[in-house]
This record gives sequence, structure tokens and C-alpha cells, in this order.
Amino acid sequence: MDCVFCKIARKEVPTEVVAEDAQILAFPDHKPKAPVHILVIPKEHIQSIAHLEANHNDVIAKLIYTAKHVAAEKGLKGYKLAFNVGRAGGQLVDHLHLHLLGGWDKPEDWKKGFLGDL
Ligand SMILES: [Zn+2]
Repeated sequence: MDCVFCKIARKEVPTEVVAEDAQILAFPDHKPKAPVHILVIPKEHIQSIAHLEANHNDVIAKLIYTAKHVAAEKGLKGYKLAFNVGRAGGQLVDHLHLHLLGGWDKPEDWKKGFLGDL
């Protein structure tokens, strides 16, 4: 599969590994939109949330659980989780990925990333 996130999952493109197991990989977004901006992906190529099948239930749960674990490891007091779905939903890479955004210190920054260009 000629997909940049598949290449990252296979370690053909170097990245900082934040979390990993047999099914998932977490790494920093290369264009961070928050002080902490991590992507959590399934290693299996799934195009988007719109392409989920029933047999993906476990991996989707693991994406969310991994994001929660990474947020705790990084000491985030609060954070946002987002899936962009399709071009019209702001998805730029056609490999399902969960955005974990956080690390804002000031209350006036807490709404950042909510409706922004993730
Ligand atoms: Zn892929």
C-alpha cells in the first residue's frame, strides 16, 4: 500500500514512536496544531471512519484507549480527540487516524483546535 501512514507503521518513514503494539502506532503530527498533537493510527490500512467494518471494533477501541494512555503519560489535564472523515471533513491522509490535541496552559486557549483546521 503506497500510503504514508502505512509506511510510518512499517517504519519505512522514520518517526518518533510515542506508543506502539501489534495493532496500533502513535506518533507526533508533523504539523502540530497544539502544544501536544499526537496521531494514533491502526497499523492495518483502513481509509477512514466511513470505511469501518464490524471486525474493526477492537482496533477502534484500542485507538481511543491508547490516546487516553498517551494523554495521561504526557500529563495533559484535558484534551481533544478528533477523527476527520473524508476531504469535506478535513481528512488529508487517507489512512484512519485519531488526533490527540492538548497541552494548552491558558484558559483562553482551551477552545483552540475545536473547530480549527486540524
Ligand atoms: Zn495506509
